[in-house]
Amino acid sequence: MPTTQVIHIHVQAPVKPAEGAPCNGCGVCCLTQPCPLGIVLSGTRTGACAALRWRDDTSRYICGALAEPDSVLQSRLPQGLVWLTRPLSAVLPRLAHRWIAAGIGCDSSLQPLAPGPTPIGDNPPNFSPPPPQPAHSHD
Ligand code: SF4
Ligand code: SF4
Repeated sequence: MPTTQVIHIHVQAPVKPAEGAPCNGCGVCCLTQPCPLGIVLSGTRTGACAALRWRDDTSRYICGALAEPDSVLQSRLPQGLVWLTRPLSAVLPRLAHRWIAAGIGCDSSLQPLAPGPTPIGDNPPNFSPPPPQPAHSHD
């Protein structure tokens, strides 16, 4: 049975490509549910991954575990374990399973919908402009 989930996505995020097409960093997968590494970094199995990062310069999401491991570890490690940032940052990118925005194919079959019933990237079905309003008459 199909299920729906509300995610909050950057307004400039690219439209999710079809499954198998090159990943464009739309972020839909990681905003919906963290991968195994994301579960560890986020401390939860549900919702947006805490390691996901938005890039203004490229208008796409990236995996922080891949691209900014130091930053991700410093923000996620408990205070007493921050010293692990340096040794862990070397291995963190190897543990990321999704490789979001790293140039491989999209492995997500999720189908984003705009608020309401319209699939993102599609023209609204049966859309037509509202009929012209009758001119007011003061006769
Ligand atoms: S892998 Fe994730 S971020 Fe990449 S295109 Fe697919 S849904 Fe978007
Ligand atoms: S690929 Fe990176 S950002 Fe995405 S869920 Fe996994 S750890 Fe988080």
